[in-house]
Parts: sequence; structure tokens; C-alpha cells
Amino acid sequence: MQTIRTDVVVVGLGAMGAAITDQLARRGVAVVGVDRFAPPHDRGSSHGETRITRQAVGEGAAYVPFVLASHRHWRELESACGESLFEACGAVVIAGAAGRGSHHGKQDFFATTVATAERFAIEHRCLERDELVARFPQFAGMHRDQHAYFEPGGGYLRPERCIAAQLARAERASATLLLDTKVERIDNRSGGVRVTTDKAVIEADRAVVAAGAWATDLLGAPFERLLTVRRQTLHWFGLEADARFPADSPVHIWMHGAGDADYFYGFPPLPGERSVKVATEQDRVATHADQLDRQVAATESQALFDAHLRGRLAGVSSRVVDAAACLYTVTPDQGFILDDHPTMPGVFVVSACSGHGFKHSAGIGQAVAERLCGAESEFDLAPFALERFDT
Ligand SMILES: Cc1cc2nc3c(=O)[nH]c(=O)nc-3n(C[C@H](O)[C@H](O)[C@H](O)COP(=O)(O)OP(=O)(O)OC[C@H]3O[C@@H](n4cnc5c(N)ncnc54)[C@H](O)[C@@H]3O)c2cc1C
Repeated sequence: MQTIRTDVVVVGLGAMGAAITDQLARRGVAVVGVDRFAPPHDRGSSHGETRITRQAVGEGAAYVPFVLASHRHWRELESACGESLFEACGAVVIAGAAGRGSHHGKQDFFATTVATAERFAIEHRCLERDELVARFPQFAGMHRDQHAYFEPGGGYLRPERCIAAQLARAERASATLLLDTKVERIDNRSGGVRVTTDKAVIEADRAVVAAGAWATDLLGAPFERLLTVRRQTLHWFGLEADARFPADSPVHIWMHGAGDADYFYGFPPLPGERSVKVATEQDRVATHADQLDRQVAATESQALFDAHLRGRLAGVSSRVVDAAACLYTVTPDQGFILDDHPTMPGVFVVSACSGHGFKHSAGIGQAVAERLCGAESEFDLAPFALERFDT
């Protein structure tokens, strides 16, 4: 079997691995990126046309530097690839009476969003129901005692295009990409790591594992206990003939009850389309990435429509246009793990980022590249360290 020698090997070229490979290659680091499929693909956590991005993230202030850097990176990347990657159509967060509602495990998600916007001087407005509906009639189902936050600089990303553009730029900067190549094991060797794939052996000083929902297969303890993989579903519903979605409609997160499952998020119709994508999250059933049921039953779409959209999102019919299954990989506190592996020297772990990672991925690429290069960094990775868990 061929042996390849490099400085850094990146395992997994999805949202995180593509960004890290791009950042390392453009710093002049010899990098080999490996993926079992040919990203962008629809087998992991980064497919489905769109991902929400918002700067005042209610998950906490520690994430803000990543998303702010990412917004800069997406614009640079657009210039480099000549494609539209980031639509800054604005982002709306709706919470129940007195700001009630939980999202990604944060009971104070709405209040944190507003506080974070104020702390980081992120442009935003808090709106009453009538103000919001006058501007965006699709939110007609909002109650008068609910609260809305509007961030004009939020919007949506095109995940498949972002990944493809970063991988193309990494290759132009001399990265080697081994696609349709499965990493089978990672071992320590004197002064570095040995990564065995089904096609070649790679010897490197460092390895980054960004293998998404498959990460535990490679990482062992304590990750198999800390990372849980969950099937999620995305649904596209057709618009009613008289639907009124203004051309500048935002993405939204709508919390209508107290629990994490009492919410849905959605996107405006994409240019030229007469449907909207919406989804919620489930945190009850775990799976393994290789056993994912990729078929989404019509009853699942109907259940989502009945529980979340009916009577809330105006102008959207229950006619299902499309549906897809996707994977979340979550930690116990629904935060990220960005840290050295505790027992595998030379291995840096980038967890699959618990269902809210895409918006941060370009910034995480920069942060991880700076960490590996020993460069000064604007990012503090301490809140994402493994030691916060009882390992
Ligand atoms: C339905 C859904 C909606 C989401 N919505 C949002 C949103 O609106 N906003 C937001 O910010 N985030 C969102 N997220 C989260 C975000 O998309 C993820 O955090 C992010 O895409 C994860 O990227 P990743 O690189 O960790 O995983 P992936 O993109 O899945 O990449 C992992 C890669 O590793 C490869 N791999 C795995 N094992 C091996 C191996 N042994 N050898 C070689 N390669 C391997 C896989 O093939 C894959 O390409 C959502 C996620 C889902 C599923």
C-alpha cells in the first residue's frame, strides 16, 4: 500500500474539514484531506440547500467570534469562486410570552440573543407582533404576547457550495484531496500519527478528525460516551397560490412552547421557487450514521406540519414537495468539542457541532489552523475543551 508523507492529515471534508483544509493549505502547510465520500454529498450533516446563520447567537457569546469571522470568510470565498454563498436576507427569532422558549438546550435563548447583539453591537431590532407581520405577512400566526428579534445581517448559507468552494481553493493552494477513501484507523507513531485508509497509509505530524457523525468510530473513549448521533428531517412544503412572502423575507426560528422540541425553523422561498424548507429537531432517538433511515415518510412531514406550521406560518400549504434526512451529532451540553484527543497525541478533534455548526465552520477552520500552526489567534477555544465533561 502506498505511503504518503505530509504535515497534517484532515479526516472528513464536510463543513469543518473543508474549512480547516482550506485554511491550512493557504498558510503553506502540507495537508492531505481524506473523505470516505466525495463532498459535498448528502450522507452526513451538511446537505439540504441551506443553513441559517445569525451573528448574535443565543447559544452563547463564546461562539460569536466564529460566526463573525465566518461572515468575513464567506464574502472572501464568494469573490474567489464567483458564486453566491451567503444570502443576508435577515434572521427572525420569535419567542413565547416573556421571551419563553428553549433552543439547543438554552432556556434563555431569546434573552441571550438580544444580550449578545447588544454586547457585540450587532445590528438588530426587537419587534412587536404587528410590526413584524406588517413587514413579513407570513408570520401572521404569531401571538400578540410573543416577542420577535430581527437581525438584518443574518440569513442563509449554501452549504454544498461553501464546501465545494473551500475544497477547490484548498486544492489550488496545493492540498491533496483523497476522495472516496475511508479512514480505517488512526495510530500514534514516533513524532506523529499514522492514518490507515482503504487505499493508502498517511504519515503526518498531526491529524484533525472532523468526521462528523462517524467520529466515534475513529476516536474511541471518551467520545463514544459523549457524542450521540440523531436523525433529523428536512421538509419542503409548497406555497398557497396567494402566499405573500416579500422578496426580502428572512429566515426564522420560532419557539412557540417551553421545550426544545416546541419550535421550528425555516427559510424563505429560494429564488424562482414556490416552496419553503422548514424543520424542527428531535432529541429522543439515537442512531448510527451507517444505519440512518434516509427515507422520510409522508406521515413525518404531515406531523411536522400539524404540530408546528398549521395556524402559524401563513401562505404555506401541507403539500410536500420534498424531504430529506440528515444527522446531528450532539454533546451532552449541545456545545462543540474543539480540543486535543486526551489519549492520542497529535490528534485534534472537531466534533460535529451539535446541530448548529455550519454558520461557525469557516471561523472554526481559521481557529483550528491557527492552533495547529502555533499562530496567535483571536479565538478562545477554552469553552470548547473536553475537560468541561466528566471524562
Ligand atoms: C438537518 C440539519 C440542519 C442544520 N441546520 C443548521 C443551521 O441552520 N445552521 C447551522 O449553523 N448549522 C446547522 N446544522 C449543523 C451543521 O450543518 C453541522 O454542524 C455541520 O454541517 C457539521 O459539519 P461536519 O464537518 O462536522 O460534518 P459533515 O459535513 O457530515 O462532514 C463529516 C465528513 O467526514 C467524512 N467521514 C466520516 N468518517 C470518515 C472516515 N472514516 N474516513 C473518511 N471520511 C470520513 C464524511 O464522509 C463527511 O464528509 C444543521 C444540521 C442538520 C443535520
